Amino acid sequence: MEQPTMIELRSDTFTLPTRAMRQAAFDAEVGDDVYGEDQTVNRLERLAAQMLGKPAACFMPSGTMANLASILTHCPRGTEILVGDESDIYNYEAGGASVVGGLVYHPVPTNPDGTLAIAALDEAIRDASDSQFAEAALICLENTHNRCGGVPLPLAYLAEVREFATARGLAIHMDGARIFNAAAALGVAPTEITQYADSLQFCLSKGLAAPVGSMAVGDERFIYRVRRLRKMLGGGMRQIGMMAAPALVALETMVERLHDDHRLARRLAEGLAQIPSVHIDLQTVQTNIVIFEVRDKRYTWKTFLDALQAEGVRMGELGHGRIRAVTHYGISSEDIDRAIAAVERVLAPTRTSSN
Ligand SMILES: *Cc1c(COP(=O)(O)O)cnc(C)c1O
Repeated sequence: MEQPTMIELRSDTFTLPTRAMRQAAFDAEVGDDVYGEDQTVNRLERLAAQMLGKPAACFMPSGTMANLASILTHCPRGTEILVGDESDIYNYEAGGASVVGGLVYHPVPTNPDGTLAIAALDEAIRDASDSQFAEAALICLENTHNRCGGVPLPLAYLAEVREFATARGLAIHMDGARIFNAAAALGVAPTEITQYADSLQFCLSKGLAAPVGSMAVGDERFIYRVRRLRKMLGGGMRQIGMMAAPALVALETMVERLHDDHRLARRLAEGLAQIPSVHIDLQTVQTNIVIFEVRDKRYTWKTFLDALQAEGVRMGELGHGRIRAVTHYGISSEDIDRAIAAVERVLAPTRTSSN
């Protein structure tokens, strides 16, 4: 299908399902998944568990619900979850763990490389023998880390957090919305990463280009409880093999090509770095996310984005006035060159109007 000529870099959630995905949805064998009788969902859950190296998985409507159900499964009411202050869980998920789960978010400072320092985690864990403190139950890590520019967490760091968490009796949940991007960037199998987490969620609806869905992944007991929470939260779905089928196509055919997105993000970043008023740390550009700042007196981030859109390119803002561009399946190398040229035009010294 022809798409409009707008170059859509706001998010990899704008990916459209491929023809093979639409066909798979059309042809899907379905049943009532709340009864566990949708064979397409069952296949998806087995494949996801296997690819991530855990015993079980549960198909979820969204990453937000997968994170929430996972957190609620790990944490008794009234306990604390240690979350990065730049994390999606802390910033973009409507405070669900607190509203629904009666949990306390304990924000921990995020390092520029997406890690939470062990010393900072240690400091966040309060003295359990002191009855005035809530007890910590869970550490949440984000991998790749969106607001840190899509960086993958180093394996050596994950090993360190694992050791720390085990010593302190805490579980680790990984918000691996873009876990396959992390694996691609590190050049390792996803299982090399997930071995350090008790549970994780990953999104099918982002770079993998499926229309909806996330997978919660963990051991059998964990997934049994996640499944009940999914029902409680209103996420029990019926003939949802219609959506599991495109998700299977995503897992089977869209993982290897993530390298292409990473190459294009790099190309975009290097092009932008040539523009004097663009400030960008090329070091952070390791996957499909490019974050930069525009320092030009004629523009705020908002008027810059508006001017860019008028030139046929959409990007987004993600806090602190930083601009984010995300490459994905729907973006070609020509699109990247056109996007760089559009930014150049908007920021050209001779341009007088700021739109
Ligand atoms: C997108 C995203 C989520 C949430 O997924 P939804 O399906 O949009 O609810 C969670 N964490 C990270 C890091 C994400 O990028």
